[in-house]
Amino acid sequence: MTGEVSIQAPPIIDIDVPLPVPPRALTAQEQSRLQTEIKILLEQHNAVLIAHYYTDPEIQALAEATGGFVGDSLEMAKFGARHPAQTLIIAGVKFMGETAKILSPEKRVIMPTLEATCSLDLGCPEQAFSEFCDQYPQRTVVVYANTSAAVKARADWVITSSIALDVIDYLDRAGEKIIWGPDRHLGRYIQQQTGADMVLWQGHCIVHDEFKTKALKQTMAQHPDAAVLVHPESPAEVIELADVVGSTSQLIKAAQTLSQQKLIVATDKGIFFKMQQAAPEKTLIIAPTAGEGATCRSCAHCPWMKMNVLENLATVFDRNDVEIHVDPVVAERALVPLTRMVEFVNR
Ligand code: SF4
Repeated sequence: MTGEVSIQAPPIIDIDVPLPVPPRALTAQEQSRLQTEIKILLEQHNAVLIAHYYTDPEIQALAEATGGFVGDSLEMAKFGARHPAQTLIIAGVKFMGETAKILSPEKRVIMPTLEATCSLDLGCPEQAFSEFCDQYPQRTVVVYANTSAAVKARADWVITSSIALDVIDYLDRAGEKIIWGPDRHLGRYIQQQTGADMVLWQGHCIVHDEFKTKALKQTMAQHPDAAVLVHPESPAEVIELADVVGSTSQLIKAAQTLSQQKLIVATDKGIFFKMQQAAPEKTLIIAPTAGEGATCRSCAHCPWMKMNVLENLATVFDRNDVEIHVDPVVAERALVPLTRMVEFVNR
């Protein structure tokens, strides 16, 4: 807890990429027809649908209705590894498909689209990150799950936000100094909470980065009886306003256990599907973002998660551009820190 803290800025990677065009909204009839088709296809192909909390509600509902799973990235990969299905359909973003493939190399891992990426992954290219790490050869490299397989292969540890504090505290107590990447907000939060000596890569999530303090204070003033739940990928000033800071799974649990009936939530609004299931009597309010409509980049919903739709899910078995392949050498190296994470959770 008393480690010397030093933040040094690595190069900031420009991730001002064009965002995907939002998919067309389906009619109720189209949704129902596609859901029926996909259910049949999953059975025919001995496949299971595994969805992230941030995908659209109809994708999460379908995963649950077909014996699949909804969870965070680590839970998704673990579910895929223990499920008997030989084909895993990962509805999420590409690094989640890669992680599932690395943990289940014998299985076929496919995704509705391989174009669904993540600003944290985009903002942390392997070569630049590796050069950054090379500057601090004595430090332990800890990366967030939201990274490519190649970046994981460069790391000593991979962690999710649900175990971030525990792992860094463990390493800090062991006297290790840390390189953290890629999310700067989460890194700073962990650093403040644990006192660990960390140098931080300067990546960010375009969804959480948009939550705004001033607007959040106004929302809090409108709902003084509400609790504020914040994901630690959000800016520090937003985290400071939180009653609860936690990973997706931890925020859902908090929604269940908090006494407040109203909850202001600063994370991707895809989480509302499971959060409302967990706490049906509560009123959920999305925290305000940088703007509305055309003026915000994400409007509290990840544009890449939004690319997982029933239409591309229904054609996933017909296309040859949807399977995840990870270079075996990279996979073998990335498996080491991933296994460390799983063993830490199970210890
Ligand atoms: S919500 Fe943020 S961290 Fe999650 S996939 Fe989208 S861009 Fe990446």
